[in-house]
Amino acid sequence: MLLDCAVVGGGPAGLSASLVLGRARRKTILFDDNKPRNAVTNEAHGYLTRDGINPQEMKKIAHAELSHYPDVRIEKQRVKEVKKVNGLFHLTTENGESFQSKKLILAAGLKEILPAVKHVEEFYGMSLFNCPYCDGWELKDQPLAIISESQWAFHMAKMVSNWSNDLVVCTNGKSKLTDEEKRILESQGIIIREEKIKSLSGKSGKLEEIEFDGGQKIQRTGGFVTPDWKQASSIGESLGCRLNDKGGIEVDSFKRTTIEGVFACGDTVIEGPAQLIIAASEGSMAAFGVNADLVEEKFAKKKELGLMENNFSKSKHTHHHGGKIAYLESAARKAELSPERLMDMIPLKKADHILDFGAGTGYFTLPFAQKVDGTVYALDIDQTMLEMIRSKAEQEHITNIQLILAGNDRLPLPDASVDVIMASLVLHEVNPLEETLQQFMNVLKSGGHFICIELEPTQASERAPRITCAKMEEKLVNSGMQIIEKKFLTEFLYVLIAKKQ
Ligand SMILES: Cc1cc2nc3c(=O)[nH]c(=O)nc-3n(C[C@H](O)[C@H](O)[C@H](O)COP(=O)(O)OP(=O)(O)OC[C@H]3O[C@@H](n4cnc5c(N)ncnc54)[C@H](O)[C@@H]3O)c2cc1C
Repeated sequence: MLLDCAVVGGGPAGLSASLVLGRARRKTILFDDNKPRNAVTNEAHGYLTRDGINPQEMKKIAHAELSHYPDVRIEKQRVKEVKKVNGLFHLTTENGESFQSKKLILAAGLKEILPAVKHVEEFYGMSLFNCPYCDGWELKDQPLAIISESQWAFHMAKMVSNWSNDLVVCTNGKSKLTDEEKRILESQGIIIREEKIKSLSGKSGKLEEIEFDGGQKIQRTGGFVTPDWKQASSIGESLGCRLNDKGGIEVDSFKRTTIEGVFACGDTVIEGPAQLIIAASEGSMAAFGVNADLVEEKFAKKKELGLMENNFSKSKHTHHHGGKIAYLESAARKAELSPERLMDMIPLKKADHILDFGAGTGYFTLPFAQKVDGTVYALDIDQTMLEMIRSKAEQEHITNIQLILAGNDRLPLPDASVDVIMASLVLHEVNPLEETLQQFMNVLKSGGHFICIELEPTQASERAPRITCAKMEEKLVNSGMQIIEKKFLTEFLYVLIAKKQ
């Protein structure tokens, strides 16, 4: 069965996403091998109504809540691999089972890399923690250590001083503290020990003593460390999701990653503080994103199928009217590909001249013209479309658009005169395509960009002309262009960005 969404990771992020999806009647599968980051701790703090709860108890309650929603299934196993094939996600689990879904939510969390201090693992999660908001209250007014080899030592010491003023910063022989930072900390009565730690000791997870290499010992009852993080699962990276500078998966406000159809939430997108309640809230947002995109795709597809049938029965030169205008101007189209998003995909310069080949209603022409000072040539075979663009440009006082009534027979522009050419949902109708691409190469400046937007053929589109992404890529390369980006924005809609060498 094709699922609406597969969720990888069943911590608060994945569980919360699954709850929202289940309530939205989306066929959802949640995979979890139950090795969360906080497995080392007995109590989770700061989650409103669940303050101090055991993390596994919290998971149990979440599973019970999810069991009310028949569209959600929980699989207690690890996802080994995810591949994206023709816009669908193919998941393989460690047990060798396969699943397919339209969307994917990554909620696999992080793993910590603790400083290399002997016995640190015995105390981590029991009396040594990483987040004062989570565990500072329990350690308040105690003699604490900050064990940190990183540049976060200064920040952590300042933060923790809010919970206790008996602090020793231990940098384990790898101090990154500047002289100024040391001076500031010491002026607040915070002690700094920069020598290597020999070992930690204590009983049943409760820290008692820190011994340094020289044999000196200090008594501490707990404290904080500043670990490094790594992704708990490599699935995001293997799919090509871009990471932020903290190593988290980059997402927008609806938790969409840079790969179409892939969402990410919780610790895996780490950018700032990480907590259970933040992870749960992000899971909720990811589910909103998934559901919203599925809804938009459903309506866009209906329009597009109607449009293709229209096209088939009409002559080639009247293809823009009726349903197509509605589609070209629709919210569904904006959701699939906003002009702003497209403009972000190329290094657009103020002085650029742009050719919008098959400009239609000016969906891209007008935003491009607002963005650049150069001329934007709106070329279309249909006078009605050009009139629409003229009237919109007048209303918005845009003066750098030049309308060109022409087909693909001969581009009425000088060689090497434009910086960017775009052709959206038009090249599938051009025959022979090679000749038009050759003309594009002629009018493009060296180093100029070509943006091609097209639809991948499907069974439902059999009767209407379409061209596969692979075929289009081949044609662009044969015409002498270099592909620099290839992306599926929805299951069928793809963008190819090429450069003239
Ligand atoms: C010591 C410690 C104490 C903490 N204390 C608190 C606290 O008191 N309060 C608080 O709010 N926060 C606390 N946190 C932070 C909190 O644990 C995290 O912010 C939170 O767990 C993040 O939730 P998540 O759903 O993103 O990831 P996780 O809770 O880590 O869940 C991810 C899940 O995905 C699973 N998974 C990973 N890869 C796969 C795969 N390929 N297939 C299937 N499943 C997979 C993992 O096994 C795991 O069960 C603490 C963290 C630590 C380390």
